[in-house]
Amino acid sequence: MGDAAKFDPKSLRPATKLVHGGTMRSQFGETSEAIFLTQGYVYDSMETAEARFNGERPGYVYARYNNPTVSMFEERMALLEGAEAARATASGMAAVTAAIMGQLKAGDHVVAARALFGSCRYVVEELAPRFGVACTLVDGRDLAQWKAAMRPNTKTLFLESPTNPTLELVDIAGVAEIAHAGGATLVVDNVFATPLLQKPFELGADCVVYSATKHVDGQGRVLGGVVLASAKFIETHVHNFLRQTGPALSPFNAWVLLKSLETLPLRVAAASANAAKVADWLASRPEVSRTIYPGRDDHPQAALARRQMSGGGSLVAFEVAGGKAGAFAFGNGLSIVKISNNLGDSKSLVTHPATTTHQRLSPEARAEGGITDGLLRLSVGLEDSDDLIADLARAFDGARLRQAAE
Ligand SMILES: *Cc1c(COP(=O)(O)O)cnc(C)c1O
Repeated sequence: MGDAAKFDPKSLRPATKLVHGGTMRSQFGETSEAIFLTQGYVYDSMETAEARFNGERPGYVYARYNNPTVSMFEERMALLEGAEAARATASGMAAVTAAIMGQLKAGDHVVAARALFGSCRYVVEELAPRFGVACTLVDGRDLAQWKAAMRPNTKTLFLESPTNPTLELVDIAGVAEIAHAGGATLVVDNVFATPLLQKPFELGADCVVYSATKHVDGQGRVLGGVVLASAKFIETHVHNFLRQTGPALSPFNAWVLLKSLETLPLRVAAASANAAKVADWLASRPEVSRTIYPGRDDHPQAALARRQMSGGGSLVAFEVAGGKAGAFAFGNGLSIVKISNNLGDSKSLVTHPATTTHQRLSPEARAEGGITDGLLRLSVGLEDSDDLIADLARAFDGARLRQAAE
């Protein structure tokens, strides 16, 4: 904690923030951040307990409210994102739910992009309306639709960019302007871009949420989430909601995520470089009818990608010939790339959205979202890119053989 006197951690570059930011050392002077695996705290006197509870003296009270390891993770995330305040949660969905529902009451209206992570769509499309909050879903790519959806009682706008699984982009600055003109806030789910490749606050967002389960952990171990915003936003909308409803991040998981942040820039850079190579290779294959990667010039919104992202990210979507049978034959032929619906992992993972993550959508809704039967989503990991490309090549060769034999 003495470090704070020597430099302003906000002045540091991201890699340094992610190694040192938020560190609090105990009386033992440990090098690595400690896991405070404790539910509660003891007080040296009744007076101290009283002062902690009435807020006269700072300090920890109960792990549902806060915990030193969780605080270190929150502080490190806030420094990275350039946010005044952060609150960690047990999962990404707990973060999304708090950021959205914490702002709303019966009679309010929310506007969201239609292309959302399935559970996020549930929160705005099904959960919020049950409590008297109307919801309008729009094509996130079309600013005119966002504008037309605004009502006098619109309180918040919600989007993710790039989207899952078709990696469409939403003009964050454009939507922020529409939100603010209507007196509403903008919440951005920045999972696919990662905190390193896209800075929603600089583009006008009021609140940024993450599933830390994805690139932040990046090694497929724990669930976690975080809500980042101004101190006022957190105080008004998020703080009490989380304290009283209880989706607290476990101190152990906070420690895993805290240590993961130290290597986040290295991992995101390496995975993104691999993804760019893999995307270029896929685009050259005769079996692939469409390759979608925000870092490629043939992305339908390449100009927007260059404007609001500093890299293409680690996800690639592509469509193989032969529909579902072709996609399955190809997926079953992979051996280094694993079949899994996680993303942002050090292991490369492939998923078939139409039969897994987006299975619940009607065929019409899938078609509207570009989720065809031949579409695959590949989360590129940290393996050697030549090994990945060889694995993909073997799968294409095998799939072609099997198709020919049918
Ligand atoms: C995974 C994910 C979530 C939900 O996160 P969990 O940690 O699984 O609860 C929300 N939004 C996006 C974009 C995601 O990829």
